[in-house]
Amino acid sequence: MTIYDCIIVGAGYSGLAAAKSLREAGKDVLILEARDRVGGRVRTKHYPDGRYEDHGAAFLGVQQDQMYALAREFNIHTFDVPTEGKSVLRYAGKPFRYSGLIPPLPYLSVLDAALSVNRFEAMAEKIDLEEPWKSPNAEYLDSMTLEEWLQRQTWTKAAKDLFRVTADLLWGTSTSQLSLLHCLWFSKAGVNLTVLGSVKDGGQERLIEGGAQSIANEIHRILGKLVHLGEPVIGVDQREGKTVAVETTKATYQARHVIFAVPPPLVLKVDFEPPLPVQKTHLLQRMPMGATYKVILTYPKAFWHEEGLNGEILSLEGFLAYGLDVSPEDRSRGVFMAFVVGAKAYRFAEMDEKTQKATILKEFVECFGEDAAMPKHMTVHTMMDEQWSSGCPVAGMPPGALTTLGTWLRKPIGRVHWAGTELATVWSGYMEGAVRSGQRAAQEVLEAMKLGGLDE
Ligand SMILES: Cc1cc2nc3c(=O)[nH]c(=O)nc-3n(C[C@H](O)[C@H](O)[C@H](O)COP(=O)(O)OP(=O)(O)OC[C@H]3O[C@@H](n4cnc5c(N)ncnc54)[C@H](O)[C@@H]3O)c2cc1C
Repeated sequence: MTIYDCIIVGAGYSGLAAAKSLREAGKDVLILEARDRVGGRVRTKHYPDGRYEDHGAAFLGVQQDQMYALAREFNIHTFDVPTEGKSVLRYAGKPFRYSGLIPPLPYLSVLDAALSVNRFEAMAEKIDLEEPWKSPNAEYLDSMTLEEWLQRQTWTKAAKDLFRVTADLLWGTSTSQLSLLHCLWFSKAGVNLTVLGSVKDGGQERLIEGGAQSIANEIHRILGKLVHLGEPVIGVDQREGKTVAVETTKATYQARHVIFAVPPPLVLKVDFEPPLPVQKTHLLQRMPMGATYKVILTYPKAFWHEEGLNGEILSLEGFLAYGLDVSPEDRSRGVFMAFVVGAKAYRFAEMDEKTQKATILKEFVECFGEDAAMPKHMTVHTMMDEQWSSGCPVAGMPPGALTTLGTWLRKPIGRVHWAGTELATVWSGYMEGAVRSGQRAAQEVLEAMKLGGLDE
């Protein structure tokens, strides 16, 4: 029977990056993926007429060096999201057009929001990215939700609402359910809150030609039959000691090491022998996935540019929380994507698809005018109910989890190592974080193999 150097569970960007690094180091690897495709939370749907839609991740941002390096390696072009023209803010029942980073809110609200963002970013600066639980005042920061901090820090409703919609967008989870320490950590990992929320010089700066899954497909192509699709891992047995038995719905495989690169709560679906330490189990139970819908509207052209708009919408009310122009670079069609997030995504889930589409269309028309009323195509998509994501875009953490159990985030357990974007210390929650955590786990396996000597 083949004994692999490493079996990787999950062929999202994290698992693919881990496998690529280990292959490049000459190791025998196997990836076991539950879905019938690679990419995980990155999924590009192609249509017969040549158009494509990113139903999961789409944007690349500043300082995302590993993703850009992969794009270059596979000769995949990336291009800027348009920023010329005005953005739209929906607030107090009306759409307001504005330029730059400062939303057209009453003066006191702008001041309140700016001071709060400054304060938040100053606190985030002090967070230890590798070990956030060791940051100054970690226990205090982890003792409260982001909402509690907002109640103390801000005094206008608009500033609170700006933070709330930002949290919903970043984590798919409400401010009342997120630890302040966790939010500070995540923000610093993505440079800062301003960068996370920006298009130009920010997290949403560029798009990948052909869709965000195209790089994953290229890694799949070079790994070839080392990737087994449609094989969910259901059990891991490391009682033998020198090897680990990995059981899927189809077969059992042996490996010296295993890397789990799946969304945190999905680890709990796997049967471990011996069982995972209680600290790891309890940590995973405290990392629930968020709630997000993506709505994609396609028009013959990006008509909003003719009206001096860049295609960005931020809304403090209604269902459409944020939207951007995701048209192809040649602008051969106009494509707009909108997010429905957090608690509103749960309410959205209760509507039938026709009502969902009518709801978003109405709000989009309010912002962009009657030209928006007749899209050629409209797609409503979520990974919330997909068995192998169980929520999106990322997992959040409630108060107390990082300081009591954070040391178990990446700690190997026997021969099992841990990857996935939620465990990254740079651009955690993004494709970049996924790749980096996969590379880090691969490095960990290589070092363990060196230390293991002949046993390996
Ligand atoms: C709607 C949406 C929008 C987003 N927007 C952006 C964006 O614009 N930019 C950005 O950088 N990031 C964005 N993200 C986040 C980004 O998609 C993720 O951070 C990243 O893709 C996570 O990669 P991963 O490999 O860690 O996990 P995943 O992509 O979740 O991969 C895990 C893989 O494990 C598989 N799996 C799970 N359980 C098992 C099992 N038991 N056995 C075998 N396989 C298993 C899953 O099928 C999956 O393929 C977005 C996400 C969503 C959902």
